[in-house]
Amino acid sequence: MKLSLVVPCYNEAENVLAFQEAVLEAFAGCGYDYEIVFVDDGSKDATLHNLKKLYKAQACPVKVVSFSRNFGKEAGIYAGMTHASGEYISLIDADLQQRPEIVRDMVKILDEKPDIDVVAAYQDRRGEGKLLSFFKKCFYKIINKLSNVTLHADASDFRTFRRSVAQSMLEMTEWHRFSKGIFSWVGYSAEYIPYTACARKAGTSKWSFGKLANYAIDGIIGFSTRPLRIATYLGGLTAFAALIYMIVVVLQKLIVGIDVAGYATIIVLILLLGSMQLFAIGIIGEYVGRTFEQSKNRPIYIAKEVLLPEDKE
Ligand code: UDP
Ligand code: MG
Repeated sequence: MKLSLVVPCYNEAENVLAFQEAVLEAFAGCGYDYEIVFVDDGSKDATLHNLKKLYKAQACPVKVVSFSRNFGKEAGIYAGMTHASGEYISLIDADLQQRPEIVRDMVKILDEKPDIDVVAAYQDRRGEGKLLSFFKKCFYKIINKLSNVTLHADASDFRTFRRSVAQSMLEMTEWHRFSKGIFSWVGYSAEYIPYTACARKAGTSKWSFGKLANYAIDGIIGFSTRPLRIATYLGGLTAFAALIYMIVVVLQKLIVGIDVAGYATIIVLILLLGSMQLFAIGIIGEYVGRTFEQSKNRPIYIAKEVLLPEDKE
């Protein structure tokens, strides 16, 4: 098997059939074997039903992994890679925003350049709002500064890579998965190619602003302990300021005496210090929480059903 297309699907009933059509069309006469590994991420619509249809038909080798509930796209990618048997593995969305034709180009690059291990597509033109663009830009600036991984600002999960890369990614069994960071962390040499994301074929995007914000925090916390250092610095800074102010107050008392006032100062200080403490506890909490989650050693996903072509009678 030359290529495995790993496709996480969550409520994509209207897209999966068209997706396979597009793949068959794009890879017609490519001259190598390929398979599609669909992961049904606990969809609530007819996605699994439609995937089973594709599995029965086997128009090309089709595998279906069906989760017991929604575990998220990252878990879907992990499960898909686990069951992929291709020499190359490609991550692609089910909504046809990422054209399968591009995967063919990616395969060609991997074939032609043996020292390239990953071909990643980045969006050359984003059809999203200015505000979101701005936040995304900020996020990449922050994470590239704070963490020891470097992320390409517009790169997506849309990638094709060699089996060894997938193996390395599977060895990273962390529970809070942030695949862009994982890709950067495992290393290997990548080539970036531009692509234009098409409009979603059907259905809606599963990403809300809140979800994206959480994902961004996961990314930063998952690949850097520098935020903890922020708390340390903040504490040091306030301790220093407090010391100075203490000396000022003592001198004031000794030299001129203090009349009881300073209500505003006290309120401001209480609020300021209180919020700084909560902020620092929050940061620590993020790390403690993740340590807790990871220490339970729960599986990244639970597959209710795995359909492989060889099991089909
Ligand atoms: N997806 C998934 N599990 C989820 C959310 C999304 O498997 O919990 C899949 C979804 O079906 C799609 C891909 O991840 O194939 C990308 O999702 P979406 O199109 O909503 O994201 P966007 O393209 O808007 O970034
Ligand atoms: Mg999409």
